[in-house]
Amino acid sequence: MSKIIVMIGAPGAGKGTQSRLISEKYGYPQISTGDMLREMARAGTPLGQKIKETMASGKLVGDDILAEVILARTSQPDCENGYILDGYPRTTNQAHLLEELALRQRKKVLFMRVVVNEEPLFKRLTGRRTCPKCGEIYNIYFRPPHVDGICDLDGEPLAHRADDNPESVSKRFEEYRRSTGPLINYYSQNGRLVEIDGDLPVEDVFEKLCAVIDSLNGE
Ligand code: AMP
Repeated sequence: MSKIIVMIGAPGAGKGTQSRLISEKYGYPQISTGDMLREMARAGTPLGQKIKETMASGKLVGDDILAEVILARTSQPDCENGYILDGYPRTTNQAHLLEELALRQRKKVLFMRVVVNEEPLFKRLTGRRTCPKCGEIYNIYFRPPHVDGICDLDGEPLAHRADDNPESVSKRFEEYRRSTGPLINYYSQNGRLVEIDGDLPVEDVFEKLCAVIDSLNGE
């Protein structure tokens, strides 16, 4: 049965990095709701403007908008054999909508949580810089590029997300606890949440995630 791999974790826990690695290894498309919303925000439509403001404040975008975005994207042919959700669901309501969608799409949902110590995440986020071309992720404190502000791989100027400033980051953590906390409780209580230690090095986290995915292959 094809799978929906759901990646849950605090802002900066490494969901995006791990989703990208899983996507490369297994060929499932990585669906990042944050990336899709940022693209909508750039379009400059009235809806895009609203999304941009909500994101910059660190709050969550409405469930109805997310439901539409997810349905449209996961109905594409490249999602037929499975896909990775990076950043969705984030609320219990979104989780229920996803369960319905999975039933309709005849897919099994695998919930994986990357568990991290939240204290160092603040610097991880405020120092984060991303290459808009190849997606490589840097950090001005922990993993700076060779040339300040330039991607090592393709020379592209690095981008700093509008919501990676201290104020928005604090708000995003607050939202995570308030909205995603209950979702985590729900799935861990009914035994459906696989938890991985996200404080390990990136390649070790990846290895553990792959072991879980491989153990379910054929189901
Ligand atoms: P991310 O790139 O996953 O950190 O998401 C950045 C921002 O996009 C969040 O702070 C929210 O404003 C918005 N966002 C992303 N995914 C969702 C979601 N599933 N539900 C609501 N808002 C979301």
